[in-house]
Amino acid sequence: MMNKTIPIRIDKTKQSRLETTNFDNLAFGQIISDHMFVAEYKDGEWQELRIEPYGPMQINPANATLHYGQSVFEGLKAYRNEKGEILVFRGDANQRRLNESARRMCIPEVPEEIFMEGMRKLLEIDKDWIPRQPGCSLYIRPFVFAADDYLGIRPSNNYKFMILTSPVGNYYSKPVAVKVETQYARAVEGGTGAAKAAGNYAGSLFPARKAQNEGYDQLLWTDGKTHQYIEESGTMNVMFVIDGKLITAPTSTGTILKGITRDSVLILAREMNMPVEERFLAVGELEEALISGKLEEAFGTGTAATVAFIRLINIHGKDYVLPEKADGAFSTRVLTQLDDIKYGRIKDEYGWIMKF
Ligand SMILES: *Cc1c(COP(=O)(O)O)cnc(C)c1O
Repeated sequence: MMNKTIPIRIDKTKQSRLETTNFDNLAFGQIISDHMFVAEYKDGEWQELRIEPYGPMQINPANATLHYGQSVFEGLKAYRNEKGEILVFRGDANQRRLNESARRMCIPEVPEEIFMEGMRKLLEIDKDWIPRQPGCSLYIRPFVFAADDYLGIRPSNNYKFMILTSPVGNYYSKPVAVKVETQYARAVEGGTGAAKAAGNYAGSLFPARKAQNEGYDQLLWTDGKTHQYIEESGTMNVMFVIDGKLITAPTSTGTILKGITRDSVLILAREMNMPVEERFLAVGELEEALISGKLEEAFGTGTAATVAFIRLINIHGKDYVLPEKADGAFSTRVLTQLDDIKYGRIKDEYGWIMKF
């Protein structure tokens, strides 16, 4: 379908920051690469496709996104293999999910060829920003936001689609302590929890900050109605190994973000003959499993960390420390396999790698 290349205007920076950037100890999201991709939605179509130096942009104080948050984003990563080629993990899935989020927020969809060609060209120009250090990668942040200058509440007529990239290290290298949240809700049925929509994250900050002040790294969100079932964590889906079975919440209620890492882990788990249960896990069942020692592993899954091991879970004010991870634990094996696929160390049996 797409053999004509779409025109993208390119304006390269005269002063690369590459030489002055320290690639050791990369913190998540702090450094943005030299260039960004920009497209404008005007008069019913995406136009003015361009790559330009990363930097401040002019925005009118009446910009609708600033007031009402009509904005969605994605997060994916590019890796460098041994031959120096650029590998992007499941970018097609991120492209589709961006548009699913966009539909929910009344934002026009971004055509696949604009997303892909914009990302491809940006990675080509900023390929030296993909770190060479082991375990590191280039985080890619596509996002779309309303660009009307208008204080009334209605879907905007104008939008911007942009892609930034940022060299990153390992997001959570230490196992995390999480707290089961039973007062605040991240999402409710019929709400926007399944969309990667800006406002979802704003609303989660206050409860998460409270938990952090109490010494926990993240929350384990429960369902907004009864607070009896585990849903997911900050920007991760969560999985539990109880009695040899892998348990994670289903995404059918529309309250859980359909993580691409989640999907990948479930596919690999079935391949490894690990019994998988996509069902809601009651907080009570989790607590019993912790007390009886049947809870073998708990971990978050997401692009930033891939797999984040959980070392402690607080339930109704009580801290439960998880058992030491056994040799050959599922979460360790699946993390290794995913990393091996992402860095091109083993054959990609699933068509997950896009080579640029
Ligand atoms: C992005 C995100 C995830 C993880 O999705 P991945 O595609 O695996 O990165 C999970 N939960 C929430 C709330 C998210 O925003």
